[in-house]
Amino acid sequence: MSKLIPIPDELSQPFWDAINERRLIVQQCADCPTLQYPPRPTCQDCGSGTLGWKEVEGKGHILSFFVVYDGRYQVRIPDQPYNVAIVTLDEEPLINFYANLPGTPVKEVPIGAPVELIFEEVAPGQLIHDWKLVE
Ligand SMILES: [Zn+2]
Repeated sequence: MSKLIPIPDELSQPFWDAINERRLIVQQCADCPTLQYPPRPTCQDCGSGTLGWKEVEGKGHILSFFVVYDGRYQVRIPDQPYNVAIVTLDEEPLINFYANLPGTPVKEVPIGAPVELIFEEVAPGQLIHDWKLVE
């Protein structure tokens, strides 16, 4: 499946650097217990601008999913239809990631099933994250 190549900006650069080291990090507020993803300039709960990063375990569960039949990303049109699952992170269930679940047949996504983080090289030296069902 063709994947989009990430274009990091100042805010997301640490996240993508960690992905390239096969680590998953999320933003951690210095002033309250909030963890958040995707990266934002301020804490979504208390508004603090003092945010660090915390490494989390790449474990989650499938919250829901949809199937893309007619998406807008040109590079992915040959792959249609494909799954897009919403994964909740076990360490912070308020954090969601999108997943394509490689190896899972289209429309056959088991809601509630455990998933684990995987990595895929989409360009030389550039990894991206995805999730797959735990076997
Ligand atoms: Zn906060």
